[in-house]
Parts: sequence; C-alpha cells; structure tokens
Amino acid sequence: MSRIFLDNSATTPLDPDVLEAMTAVMAEHYGNPSSIHAEGRRARALIEEARKTVANALNCSIGEIFFTSGGTEANNMALKNSVRDLGVQRIISSPLEHHCVLHSLNSIEATGLATVAMVRIDERGNVDLDDLKRLLASGEQKTLVSLMHANNEIGNLLPLEEVAAICEEYGALFHCDTVQTMGYYPIDLDKTKVSFLSGSAHKFYGPKGVGFIYVNNDNIIKPYLDGGAQERNMRGGTENIYGIVGLAKALGKAIAEQEQRAAHITDLKAYFHKSLLEKYPEVQFNGDPEGGHYKVLSVSFPESAKGDLLLMNLDLSGISASGGSACSSGIDVGSHVVGHLSPDSKRHTIRFSFSHHNTREEIDTVVDKLAGML
Ligand code: PLP
Repeated sequence: MSRIFLDNSATTPLDPDVLEAMTAVMAEHYGNPSSIHAEGRRARALIEEARKTVANALNCSIGEIFFTSGGTEANNMALKNSVRDLGVQRIISSPLEHHCVLHSLNSIEATGLATVAMVRIDERGNVDLDDLKRLLASGEQKTLVSLMHANNEIGNLLPLEEVAAICEEYGALFHCDTVQTMGYYPIDLDKTKVSFLSGSAHKFYGPKGVGFIYVNNDNIIKPYLDGGAQERNMRGGTENIYGIVGLAKALGKAIAEQEQRAAHITDLKAYFHKSLLEKYPEVQFNGDPEGGHYKVLSVSFPESAKGDLLLMNLDLSGISASGGSACSSGIDVGSHVVGHLSPDSKRHTIRFSFSHHNTREEIDTVVDKLAGML
C-alpha cells in the first residue's frame, strides 16, 4: 500500500535534484571551508554560491544571510541577540507563534532583561493590527515585534508588508518567522523592511538540520555561537556544506516553480475543503481556511468516541496527517494554537498539509476512508 503524506507543514520529502546535489558534495568536497588550500577553497566557494542564491531569492545583500541549523536556531538568534546586543527591552509577539519563539520569549522574560506583550488575536486567528499599533504606541522602550508570516498549524497569513510598515512607523524592529512561507510566497526584502527573518530547508523539499537567518545590515549583532570565524564571525563551527548546498538548490527550485506548485496545491486544498463539506457537513475549519496558506487545512471534526483515535486510524490506513505542530505530535498534548482560539472545544483537530506531489485521487481516498473513522 502506498502511503498518502499530508503532513507537509511538519516537513517535506527531499527533492531528488537536491539529493543529487548534496550527494555530489558529500562524495567530492570534503575540504574544510576555512582551510586555505584548494579543497578548502572549493568548499568555501560552494557555501558562498549558496548564500548568493538565498540572497537573490530574497532581494537582499549576501552579507545579510547567515546559515544556521534550522528555523529554531534562527528564531532563537533573532530574539535573544536583539535583547543582548541591540538593547531591545520589550518584545511584542503572539500566543500563536511556534514553540521555538514562545519558549525563547519565556527564557528572555526569565532573565528580566526584556518584557513580553502579546498582541490580540481575533476569533479567526488573525493578528489584530489595531491592537499591535496600540501596544507599539503604549511604550517608550526599544521594541522588537516578532510575528510569524504563516501559522504552521492553521495557516493564517500575516500581511507582511503592512506589519513591516507599522513597525517602521513606530520605530520598532521586526522579526518575522517565515519558516512556513519561504519558497511558497514571494518575499522582497528590498521593498519590505524586516530586521530578521528565518528559513528552514526541510519545509521546502530540502534537507533537515539546516536553515538561515536574514539579519538586516542596520542591526549589528554579536556571535550567537562562539567559536571560529565561520559565517563572518557570527556562528562558530565548521559549516554543514552539503546541507547548505541542498538548502540553496531546494530554495532555487521552489522559487523557479513557485507559481505552478502554488496553483496545484491551491486546487488540492480547495478540492479537499469542498469534498469534506459535501460528505461531512458537520466538519468545521480552524483559522482562516480561504485566506490562509494554500498548503494547510486545519479541520475540526465533531466530538465523538472515536475522535481521539482519528490520527492513529488515519496512520493505520496509510494516511499521514498531524494533530498539531510536529514538535507536539509525538506526544499528543493538544495544540496551543487551537486551544487558544477555542479553549472549551471538545472537537478533534487534524491538520492536513499538502505538497505538489499530492493528487486529487489521494484526496478522494482520504475523504472516503474518513467515513469509518468519525
Ligand atoms: N517556525 C515554524 C513556523 C515552524 O513551522 C517550524 C518547524 O516546524 C520552526 C519554526 C522550526 O524550524 P526547524 O524545524 O528548522 O527548527
């Protein structure tokens, strides 16, 4: 039985072209990029080529891109370095952020060096921009706004340009967790003023354990990891060359194919949405199903005795989906995002997230198989 993978917000399968590019590097380029001999210089050139690809994709300068171990590290770095190095005393964020942001905020608050204020989220899961403005106007302290571009659980999108303009108007720094949108939506950093932005290769058909942070040139921060002079002194440690090459290959491809992938996935999501409602009129959707990220549909099934086993039954039927974010799906503690929006609900949430590899036939199979599970 071939499986149906509808958990593409948790991760995506490695693109075969990316694997090929990475394998060639693993096989042939073992040089340490910090060495000055030929092998080292070749490895260094691969990293710098990859940096150029990322910078071109975002329309920023190559000196603003730093490779990291993934989105978690990039987000930790943006938040913690802002407080440590840029004098940020207040962070405005939202309760729907990824745990790597929320838990970083907890640690920052515990140091007493900065306070955290949460912006109001409306019933559909969108950030209340008037409340953001009210918060920004209410304090004199140096402030960082940290809001995600797309929510990984319910898919809601932040109006990136508008929020960037608001932050600029109020003189606040702006960090945007773009892990779920990188490679899926165009981002032009020449037009949109963002202080920090994060990306993670495994969300756009690249390898796991590698990502990057964009740090706007106006923000001079100190190393996050102390060590050698790698990443222009910002992050010590011998670089993950094949991961970095894989990231750039995957991002380049995601951007080149963005429109056609988006059209295909948008169609699948709309088809799934419609088919579910036709067959199970009692289903509801979390967040903003029409306005959110085209790859995510968070479905709320009515309370039922079998509901707790829904995810497991889907898995046994060869269908992979998720109960919440991947970090919490191993232990089903419930979603902090859905919990915030519907605290008293006894309904069962399943997040389905699509890729350009999925088909309408797969969607038909999932809709049919759900019949015996509700
Ligand atoms: N931010 C968001 C919105 C995510 O969805 C994820 C991954 O699930 C992360 C950050 C963390 O990225 P990584 O897995 O590369 O550490």
